[in-house]
Amino acid sequence: MRSLKDNWLDVLNILEKEVTAVSFDLWIKTLDPFEIKDDEVVLIASSQIAKNQCLKNHSESLSRAIEEVFDNISSFKILDPNEKEEHDKAISLEKQINTNISSKINKNIGVFNNKYTFNNFVVGKSNQFVYAAASAVAENPSSRYNPLFIYGGVGLGKTHLLHSIGNYLKIAKPELNVLYVTCEQFTNDYIYAIRGTDKDKSIINFRDKYRNLDVLMIDDMQFITNKLETQEEFFNTFNDLYQNNKQIVIACDRHPREIATLSDRLRSRFTSGLIQDVQTPNFETRIAILKKKAQQENYNVDEEVITFLAENIDTNIREMEGLLSKVVFYASLTGKHVAGMEDANEALKDKLQTDMSSVTSDKIIDNVCKYYHIEKSAVIGKKRNKEIVEARQVSIYLITELMDLPLVSIGKTFGGRDHTTVIHSRDKITDAIKTNNRIKVIVNDIKNMVLKK
Ligand code: ADP
Ligand code: MG
Repeated sequence: MRSLKDNWLDVLNILEKEVTAVSFDLWIKTLDPFEIKDDEVVLIASSQIAKNQCLKNHSESLSRAIEEVFDNISSFKILDPNEKEEHDKAISLEKQINTNISSKINKNIGVFNNKYTFNNFVVGKSNQFVYAAASAVAENPSSRYNPLFIYGGVGLGKTHLLHSIGNYLKIAKPELNVLYVTCEQFTNDYIYAIRGTDKDKSIINFRDKYRNLDVLMIDDMQFITNKLETQEEFFNTFNDLYQNNKQIVIACDRHPREIATLSDRLRSRFTSGLIQDVQTPNFETRIAILKKKAQQENYNVDEEVITFLAENIDTNIREMEGLLSKVVFYASLTGKHVAGMEDANEALKDKLQTDMSSVTSDKIIDNVCKYYHIEKSAVIGKKRNKEIVEARQVSIYLITELMDLPLVSIGKTFGGRDHTTVIHSRDKITDAIKTNNRIKVIVNDIKNMVLKK
């Protein structure tokens, strides 16, 4: 009987004649035949990009060639490397359960993202304390820091840290029952339980799941805002675990006192342990994170690109990583092996265009006012004290930089000022940015506020 590999070589021969040489070399040829399952040929792609390209542009040719070569099979499925990993994990879990190698097997094995480990987490000033707290919890659950409440802005590594705790415990203490859920999942489980046809049984199942744990980690706790019944249930779950000396770890995008409708009882529970924030990383940490990411994903990228990305994205690591992979994608489209500044400019152009569409003069002035704590009427009015003049000039500078408006109309926005005043303000700040670090920081901060979604 012909092997899967033999058949695949025939498929490749057919496709080589059908698609362009570039597509063939870059995408098709990198597919690896893996197995035949449920009447489908399962192929492994070398990257998610390769998978998407094949599905988007060559799906029909692939089906046709497969039908021609394989008996009774005409469809296929492509797994990218992550999906392949998930697939392998599921198979190995199945095997473990079947052979029942250990009665103490961690019931939640495999639910942690294996890229999110302590090892892969870059530590800098912005996150050293939260990192220390999370590692202490992983080493010694239920001792000092209980509950551990981690909070901070989007994309700064909270989920990464929760998974790191899980990954660590899976190896160091496999006998522990560790659960990671998002608050949304917890809420859905609860709603499902109270709506079940056999309500008593489904509530028992729910409590069984959440109260027989050694470590409970709940992510995105802000989701609980306004869900009073879920808060009540979470309060009970919390008490139950806490009284039994079990560890609870919570991640949230804000401090407990800023969750508007959090019940006082729950708020005081959250604040009874350690509350630790994760801040935005400084430039050096951003560089280190990008380098780590490039190394992990085997990206070939110019040093200059790394610096460029770290300079331009400074509030959200997820976004920075997204742009890095976009840069590499652009480079791969043109067949380059090392991604350079051209690709970076291209990738960032898309981002700036989407950000720009929401910029208006009002939005800029509002943010300047917020920053300087002054009234809008003062900025567009005639007052000449130092701070107001500076705020006015910064506003004008940002409007000329971020928007494409005639100078005369900018002048009108500022109480009918002359266009030469607009030019004067713009140039004044342009110069100040070069020599005065304080102004540079202010302009940059306000720009980020304006461009933030
Ligand atoms: P959050 O949950 O705070 O919104 P995530 O944990 O999902 O953020 O992090 C977003 C992305 O940034 C992830 O890919 C994560 O691996 C990465 N990341 C965040 N902080 C770090 C860090 N200090 N070192 C390495 N990668 C990081
Ligand atoms: Mg998260």
